[in-house]
Amino acid sequence: MDIAQILRSQGFKVTPQRIAIYDALRGHHHHDHPTAEMLYHTLRPEHPSMSLATVYKTMEIFEKIGLVKILEVGDERAHYDWDTEAHSHIRCVRCNKVEDMMGIDLQAIRTIADQGSEYQITGQHITFEGVCPECAKKESH
Ligand SMILES: [Zn+2]
Ligand SMILES: [Zn+2]
Repeated sequence: MDIAQILRSQGFKVTPQRIAIYDALRGHHHHDHPTAEMLYHTLRPEHPSMSLATVYKTMEIFEKIGLVKILEVGDERAHYDWDTEAHSHIRCVRCNKVEDMMGIDLQAIRTIADQGSEYQITGQHITFEGVCPECAKKESH
């Protein structure tokens, strides 16, 4: 199903702005988990009537119907992820870029958590922090 069909099947209106916001998220370079502000600046030139509030609202709808994940990664901004499979992230503490962190065995971490807690664990959000190669390069000059 494409995004228009998914929206329609969930009872949401299909608007050019909603499609554009989803495309912008999918197309964002390096899958870098943009914030609403970043998407807004990407979209603004071609969609001058787009507001930042529309980006936020649309993302809430997308999250509700399982199209995106809203990530809280410690910089007090929501970052958006179109990859809704469980995976962990790493955030640059200098430029706030958020990337996927590969090679982390989430199932193993989950097992340890299950064994160490009396809670019935229902989810996990794992975000590493560090200085990205670009920022490290700038700092070494
Ligand atoms: Zn950085
Ligand atoms: Zn991700």
